[in-house]
Amino acid sequence: MLEVRGISVNYGGVTALRNLSLSVAEGAIVSLIGSNGAGKTTTLKAIIGLKSVVRGEIHFDGKRVEALTAPQRVAHGIALSPEGRRVFPQMSVADNLLIGGYVRNDKADRQRTLERIYQYFPRLVERHGQMAGSLSGGEQQMLAIGRALMAKPRLLLLDEPSLGLAPIIVDEIARIITEINRDTRMSIILVEQNAKLALNLCDQAYVLETGAVTLSGNGKDLLASDYVRRAYLGI
Ligand code: ATP
Repeated sequence: MLEVRGISVNYGGVTALRNLSLSVAEGAIVSLIGSNGAGKTTTLKAIIGLKSVVRGEIHFDGKRVEALTAPQRVAHGIALSPEGRRVFPQMSVADNLLIGGYVRNDKADRQRTLERIYQYFPRLVERHGQMAGSLSGGEQQMLAIGRALMAKPRLLLLDEPSLGLAPIIVDEIARIITEINRDTRMSIILVEQNAKLALNLCDQAYVLETGAVTLSGNGKDLLASDYVRRAYLGI
């Protein structure tokens, strides 16, 4: 459903991605792992349209999307839960979620999606009237994912959902990501520095180093790879 073909992205004179290609099948979880600055976030920004590509093509559902704006890509079915959560701190949990559904006109359908999100994240029901800025880190992460889900995407981009969270919360979020993928067959790209988590959850994974893909394969094979174990799992 997503084909990224040979994209390059620059920040000013600095090349952040060079000739990067990856693909995501319908219903698959695809993980991107790599160290700080490898280009994982930039890859997601290029896919959602927050960063333009200087070279290459991005095909979503058979259509080229590089020329579309980010809101247009959201309307086509791609949504991003950004690194660092970026919830609107002065707005309630419920309003943060409603903002995520702004691209959809069908009010009844939006309401059904909201109810579904509350089923995945019961903690958000308890906190629905509370200001988002007063939530715990884990709850804010759940809210950021829920807000992206409100757009009812077919491809969900998750940037570092485990960042800074206690292991027990990471487990809970991992379980919910798997559940969403299983229930809805939504495709997911998961960017993670926690390589163990990312490789355990995914069908397919790519290793990024200095803006390029250096290795790819299914999660189990990469978990067993000596190189990945040494470089990313500390084993
Ligand atoms: P992290 O895990 O630390 O978030 P990452 O793999 O997501 O890293 P990116 O954030 O995509 O990496 O960064 C890729 C490269 O682009 C890095 O060299 C980074 O310094 C550079 N870069 C990222 N954002 C900017 C920016 N706004 N301006 C200039 N350079 C940037």
